[in-house]
Amino acid sequence: MPERGPIFDAMLQEFDEAARLLKLDPGIWGILARPKRQVVVSCPVHMDSGAIEVFTGYRVQYNVALGPAKGGIRYHPAVTLDEVTALAAWMTWKCAVMQIPFGGGKGGVVCDPRRLSARETEALTRRYVAEIIDLIGPERDVPAPDVNTDAQTMAWVMDTYSMHVGHTETAVVTGKPVEMGGSLGRREATGRGVVAVTREAAAHLDLDLRSLTVAVQGFGNVGSVAAGLLARSGARIVAVADSRGAVINEAGLDVQGLIEHAAGRTGVSGFPRGAPLDPGALLGLDVDVLIPAALENQITAANVDTVRAKIVAEGANGPTTPEAHRALHRRGVFVVPDILANAGGVTASYFEWVQNRYGYFWTEEDVVTRLEARMRDAFQAVLATARAHAIDMRTAAYMVAIARIAAVTRLRGMYA
Ligand code: NAD
Repeated sequence: MPERGPIFDAMLQEFDEAARLLKLDPGIWGILARPKRQVVVSCPVHMDSGAIEVFTGYRVQYNVALGPAKGGIRYHPAVTLDEVTALAAWMTWKCAVMQIPFGGGKGGVVCDPRRLSARETEALTRRYVAEIIDLIGPERDVPAPDVNTDAQTMAWVMDTYSMHVGHTETAVVTGKPVEMGGSLGRREATGRGVVAVTREAAAHLDLDLRSLTVAVQGFGNVGSVAAGLLARSGARIVAVADSRGAVINEAGLDVQGLIEHAAGRTGVSGFPRGAPLDPGALLGLDVDVLIPAALENQITAANVDTVRAKIVAEGANGPTTPEAHRALHRRGVFVVPDILANAGGVTASYFEWVQNRYGYFWTEEDVVTRLEARMRDAFQAVLATARAHAIDMRTAAYMVAIARIAAVTRLRGMYA
């Protein structure tokens, strides 16, 4: 039995509920409830001090029935094989919900990136890629950025892989700088996807997007883009929190001004056209839409009773615990689950991979139009399943994903 832990077990609770409703064949259930491959590597790096430090890295390919594994690389001191495995499983379901021809993967290195110099980060990245070189490739496993890795990290991944295979191979990794094969619109794609599903959810609940009030937890890539686009659609962003503080303005925050302010050293705190707010109070504000776009496990059994929003659109991965999710559903809160709501990023990554293999690049307008159409279609497919079975959107999204992967697994049959 592969190594597993509490994060993977929480994922399995969600999976099991959907598998039961699907009356999934026990053999297929056994396959989909386990990672295909978990790899642990040791990465020695010459530090600036002259000493050698050895970092532990992971790469998990959860399931590749639909295509190459796809998933980010995370650099964080708290990375564990359990976390990487759960994230690889979520990538598997997310790609299947979006009908993207990818399986699910994830990677991570146990390190504190704030303590590494740029040279040490580059050396660690190159050694980690060298250690997993036989596993990755455009047809095998395509990494992307995740927490504490960015376009520069992906440029090093691409270069290291290309040096090993002897030719330039852009399609081995997505989230690259646009100058070297990245896609226009990729940076904004996750936030844009969150807005697309919020629009669909509002229409489903007969709410007018232009009169909605919104609170956003997390003001990084996902949260700030979602807030900016929602404000542009006429919604009122009344509160925003980041790791250092929160700010509120009932009349609506000037999101662009807040982005410029937060780019300084204080984050959103101290924004002059708003009042300070206790970050813990943000989740309980009386708003129409709540967008958790920071970390896992934010809406929990301890605070779920304070949530007053009508719609929760999960920009972050795993922001709601299974227990809290059941409570929200009982109270009629419409939750758009992470494996649907934040799938805009991997969808634009898929577009990047297609453009790289094609050698022909799309305009930003092409990317945005295709992305929004796919988000709408995926939302409607999940909503139709939720209605047909009178269930919540998360269980429905799992059912859509599992049914698609199970069908392909049956068609492919067992090898050897
Ligand atoms: P980011 O690092 O750009 O931003 C994270 C934000 O959350 C920052 O503003 C940070 O200050 C804030 N934050 C951290 N701890 C907080 C706390 N306790 N309370 C309030 N705010 C806090 O990260 P990101 O790329 O925006 O990702 C955010 C979430 O979305 C993560 O869960 C990530 O896995 C998920 N996600 C991101 C993408 C993507 O394309 N970037 C795609 C899918 C899912």
